Amino acid sequence: MASRILINGAKGRMGHALTSAAADLGLTVGAAVDAGDDLSAGMKNADVVVDFSSHSATQTVLELAIAQRKPVVIGTTGHSAEAKKKLLVLAAQVPCVWAGNFSVGVNLLFALTRHAASILGSDYDAEVIEMHHRFKQDAPSGTAARLLEIILEERKLTAAALRHGRSGIPGARTSTEVGVHALRGGDVVGDHTVMFAGLGERIELTHKASDRAIFARGALRAAQWVVTQQPGVYDMQDVLGLK
Ligand code: NAD
Repeated sequence: MASRILINGAKGRMGHALTSAAADLGLTVGAAVDAGDDLSAGMKNADVVVDFSSHSATQTVLELAIAQRKPVVIGTTGHSAEAKKKLLVLAAQVPCVWAGNFSVGVNLLFALTRHAASILGSDYDAEVIEMHHRFKQDAPSGTAARLLEIILEERKLTAAALRHGRSGIPGARTSTEVGVHALRGGDVVGDHTVMFAGLGERIELTHKASDRAIFARGALRAAQWVVTQQPGVYDMQDVLGLK
């Protein structure tokens, strides 16, 4: 039997996309919760929690899910690295899929970026460029953050290598830096480009999302998958079997 889903952040852009994707897929929304609603009561009517709300809500979501032993899907972004580290300790106590991007195409982009970064050494300057709608609160996006993590892992660099935009006279680019640039405007759902620029050639890997439904469908697929898993933190690559 399909699981009843709780949508946290139900009144937001993703909340609406999740509600209509659930209807399209014939899934039951057991509870739709937003800021100020009783999340604990809502959870009692659900088998799995899907959270696309605010980074400030994640700790409460996880604490209540642990208390009620509910599997969780976290799509919310914008946590600092330090905050995320603490939250992952909580998340590991229930079955949890945590992904900065639930689209199949972006998860392929993650795999392609790792492959390209492993082949193209530090002769190829890596830069990540993202663009989102004018309302987006956090920057860079969770997806850009994941792309950067992959490049840093492959190049054996730390977050100290990241250059968030450049201004003034930063001087010549070093081979150990990785640039990141966040553009904001209009209604752009989410564009990401990973660029590897060498002397004489340049490779660009680009994904463009044009409909939030891709994230909603992916998150609902993750929700159906996570209810059958043991406690632990998983990502969309696990759900899609890309590992
Ligand atoms: P939004 O601002 O349109 O909606 C957020 C909703 O959450 C609002 O209705 C708001 O009232 C509600 N909210 C705020 N605090 C809350 C709380 N404490 N408890 C319950 N609800 C609360 O934002 P959005 O565009 O729908 O995005 C929501 C989040 O999802 C953002 O962090 C965004 O970056 C992320 N996102 C992730 C993916 C992905 O694939 N992982 C895709 C798109 C968006």
